[in-house]
Amino acid sequence: MSRLVVVSNRVAMPHAHRAGGLAVAMRAALKESGGLWFGWSGKRVHGDSGELHKLDDGNTSYCTMDLSFEDFDHYYNGFANRTLWPLLHFRLDLVDYRRDTHEGYRRVNALFAEKLASQLREDDIVWVHDYHLIPLAQRLRDLGVGNRIGFFLHVPMPSSDLLAALPNHEVLFGSLAAYDLIGFQTERDLDRFQSYVRLYGGGRAFADGRMRAADGREFRAGAFPISIDADLIARQASAAVTRASVQRLRESLGSRVLAIGVDRLDYSKGLPDRFRAFERFLDRFPEIHGQMTYLQLAPVSRSEVPEYQALRRELEGLAGHINGRHAAPDWTPVRYVNRDFSHGVLTGFYRLAQLGLVTPLRDGMNLVAKEFVASQDPQSPGVLVLSRFAGAAAEMKEALLVNPYDLDGVADAIAHAHAMPMEERKERWHALHRRLRRHDITLWRRKFLEALEA
Ligand code: ADP
Repeated sequence: MSRLVVVSNRVAMPHAHRAGGLAVAMRAALKESGGLWFGWSGKRVHGDSGELHKLDDGNTSYCTMDLSFEDFDHYYNGFANRTLWPLLHFRLDLVDYRRDTHEGYRRVNALFAEKLASQLREDDIVWVHDYHLIPLAQRLRDLGVGNRIGFFLHVPMPSSDLLAALPNHEVLFGSLAAYDLIGFQTERDLDRFQSYVRLYGGGRAFADGRMRAADGREFRAGAFPISIDADLIARQASAAVTRASVQRLRESLGSRVLAIGVDRLDYSKGLPDRFRAFERFLDRFPEIHGQMTYLQLAPVSRSEVPEYQALRRELEGLAGHINGRHAAPDWTPVRYVNRDFSHGVLTGFYRLAQLGLVTPLRDGMNLVAKEFVASQDPQSPGVLVLSRFAGAAAEMKEALLVNPYDLDGVADAIAHAHAMPMEERKERWHALHRRLRRHDITLWRRKFLEALEA
């Protein structure tokens, strides 16, 4: 069995406090075949990038690299998060393109490749994650690395005309051909990439997933929707009801219905639109005033990026505005919380909620939608209101699917979920839950790695 090498910007070290679903999945994969996890150390240093730190834990090694303040700023805050992130989430209006940050991104990818190449063994299988590292395989090939290399894009792949707005897009997206396998979240993302290769890449895309770049190099692409450990989350959620913070939330609600939203504070999540849709709901359905509380958890993220600071101010204004208009002395319609919670507590909160509001304007997958479903009590499951523009919508047709730009439509869906008979709630939930248990995170990584090794 070949050794697995995982490469991602952030590395979840073996004893890290908070390990997300992906971290757990990668650790399990590494444990199965033995392996190496390579990425940024999380440290910014004065002086040069490139110092390596190594740690062994059982049959898994961790190798991480420091970045200088300037490299980090250009590669991560700059090109990855102010150029690629908005571009890949269909937000040309927010794309901030600069040659110096693009250059920093290329430089850091080249350095990652150089340091990683020195750690590789001949028959290692390499799995690279996400938009921070698109050119990595090309740089590795330049150094003579012939290993099998796969890439998984966690975020959406937008239409080709959007991609083409990026200066030098042919070079960046053309470099994807250096991978042996490229994985997308959904068939739609795959379709859009295939169109790009045909329209702008001068290459060919065949129905069976094979692709040929303009220079003749053959590679493959496929859809591999990411998922969660549904059984683990269900166990956490049912255990969480005894936790003090979950009980306190329950007591604070009294007989009110809870609607919950859980998102990183990010403009792709459609939070201002969701707040406005909830206000529209309050305007149009005064008879439910006092009967529903909307709790939005939104931990601050990428706070060094100006667009995120502006979003934070906007949401603070909106929450105050809605509560000012609609609250009563004994009822606050919107509870807006910027804190982080442990996954255990979070699953308990999901389970208390009769409505899950997941309405991103664009999302590669959206794991919160899946976590919400996995956390429900089968005897009284909550209803998921889900954006059509989340990758998860492709597999979650029994949710109430909404267009997040249509505030009245979202308000209607909230009212519909509030009034939905228990029988219908159960039917919808069972269908969602069955599919989630079949397509869990273990199946996701196995399918990707099988395809990469094939
Ligand atoms: P993204 O990867 O864009 O942030 P996802 O919905 O796919 O979006 O994944 C978000 C992850 O972050 C989920 O696993 C979710 O449980 C976690 N998360 C979101 N908000 C919080 C919070 N307040 N506390 C703890 N975890 C959170």
